[in-house]
Amino acid sequence: MDNTILITGANRGIGLELTRQYGAAGWRVLACCRNPEQAVDLRQLAAQQGQKIAIHALDVGSEDSISRLAENLCGEAIDILFNNAGVGGPKPQDFGPINAEEWLAAMRVNVVAPFQMAVAFLDHLLAGKRRFLVIMGTQLGSIADNTSGGKYVYRSSKAAAHMVGKSLSIDLEPRGITTLLLHPGWVRTDMGGAQATLSVTQSVEGLRRVLDGAGPEDNGKLIAYDGRIIPW
Ligand code: NDP
Repeated sequence: MDNTILITGANRGIGLELTRQYGAAGWRVLACCRNPEQAVDLRQLAAQQGQKIAIHALDVGSEDSISRLAENLCGEAIDILFNNAGVGGPKPQDFGPINAEEWLAAMRVNVVAPFQMAVAFLDHLLAGKRRFLVIMGTQLGSIADNTSGGKYVYRSSKAAAHMVGKSLSIDLEPRGITTLLLHPGWVRTDMGGAQATLSVTQSVEGLRRVLDGAGPEDNGKLIAYDGRIIPW
C-alpha cells in the first residue's frame, strides 16, 4: 500500500511544494485547499502527476468543513497529517491598536484548526503506518528566541500552536501517534516575502529529510527544516 499524506493549505507556498515533492516521491497526496476551483497551480500539478494527487476542499477555519472532509475520507489510512495552512494576521502588529477580530481569526486558523484536525482525523491516523501528526510551527513562536518583540498576533498564535502540539504529543502518545512541530525556515512565499533566505524547494527538501529520519523519540519536539531543535 502507498504512503499517504494529507496536506492543508496545499494550493500555494510551502503546502504546494510539499504536495509536489511528496507526489513526485510516489506518495498518495490528499491535497486540501479552500477553493479547489481557483487553485490553478495545484490543479496543474495534479494533472501532471496523475492519480497520486487528490484535491479536496477544506477550510480549516470551519469545523463543518473539517468534519465533512473527515467523513468523506472515512476508512482511508493517513500516514502523515500535515497541518500546514496558516495565516500571518493583520498588519502592522507592533505595540499599539490591533483589530481584535482579526487577531482571533488568526488564532482560529493557526491554533484551533490543528487541534480540530487531530480530533477529526484520529481514526485515519490510527489506520496509517507512520502515525505522524505534524503542526507547522515557527521560530517566531519560540518564547526563548524572542529578542526583538512585536509581531503580537503571529507570535502568540504560533506559540499557542506549539503548546497544542505539546499536549497532543502527550495525549496521543499511548495510541502510537508521534506529534511533531516543524519550523520551515524563512521561506520565499507570499507570507515569507521576497527577502526570505530559503526557496520552497530547499525548505521542503529539509522538512522531508526531518520527517524521513524522525521517530517516536522525537515526539513533542519543535524541529527546524535543517534538523535543529528549537527551544520553546
Ligand atoms: P502562504 O501564505 O504562502 O500560504 C498559506 C496557505 O495557508 C495557503 O495555501 C492558504 O490558502 C492556506 N490557508 C490560510 N487560511 C486557510 C484556511 N482557513 N483554510 C485552509 N487553508 C488556509 O504561507 P507559507 O506557505 O509561507 O506558510 C505555510 C505554513 O508555514 C504556515 O503555517 C506558516 O505560518 C508557516 N511558516 C512559514 C514561514 C515562511 O517563512 N514562509 C516561516 C515559518 C512558518 P488560501 O490561498 O486559500 O489563502
